[in-house]
Amino acid sequence: MPEMPEVQAHAERLSGDFAGQRLERFVPITFTALKTAVPAPDKAYGLPLEEVGRRGKYLLVRFEPITFVVHLMQGGRLLVDDKQAAKPRGGQARFVFDWSGPALLLTEQGTERRAGVWCVDRDAELTSTPLDRLGPEAATIEPDELLTRFREKSMRLHGFLRDQGRVAGIGRRLANEVCHRARLSPFAMTGKLTANDAATVVTAIRDSVAEGLDYERTRDDMSSSKDRPGRVHGRTGATCPVCGDAIRAVEYSGYTVNYCPTCQTGGKVLADNTTSKFLK
Ligand SMILES: [Zn+2]
Repeated sequence: MPEMPEVQAHAERLSGDFAGQRLERFVPITFTALKTAVPAPDKAYGLPLEEVGRRGKYLLVRFEPITFVVHLMQGGRLLVDDKQAAKPRGGQARFVFDWSGPALLLTEQGTERRAGVWCVDRDAELTSTPLDRLGPEAATIEPDELLTRFREKSMRLHGFLRDQGRVAGIGRRLANEVCHRARLSPFAMTGKLTANDAATVVTAIRDSVAEGLDYERTRDDMSSSKDRPGRVHGRTGATCPVCGDAIRAVEYSGYTVNYCPTCQTGGKVLADNTTSKFLK
């Protein structure tokens, strides 16, 4: 799933390519693509795109009166659409502009059909569904606030980082990278973390995000997960670049927690409801 660096760099690319172009129409291609009834997308017709912004993992396609809030979920992409085919593969919705250039096409591969678009009033953008439920931006949170959030409810650090209501923008990949950079167990309970730990996690978040953004900004399109830089995510069995131990995994149905025992758990191999794949 695209996380903050991928979404941010993509927003910047789309702003560069489309800002100033006037929206001719917004076309939902599937019944589930547009999640809202009011305000109507046609409030933006004839008006120029101001920018494509970002909040958490959402793209914000902004016009003066309304914002189209786009969530890509797992397999969604907002693509530059030169062909404007009648039945595009995986097509969910299309933004058609009043020019001879391309449209923007929201696609989602696979069968989940969870990507979508919320049309919200621009001046109530942050207080409308779905952005109203997001926690502060992970990339700019300060240690004091993070510590407060750690203590609101004690939970595993990895789960905390992925919970968009606690901090916004981090997903499964960055959660693995942040825990590793912070040298904290993904299963550390947030209620037991100290002010020092919060400061360490803030630094780890900023460094991980910066690394991802630096890479993503070199690209002309959004990366797929296998291309993204990292030290532990998706590297089960590989060598930890910091200490040389083998990267381990705890597998869940939808994702994998990757970590280095020497760097993060005092050498302890973690197991949860499932069995660790390596060296159990
Ligand atoms: Zn290590």
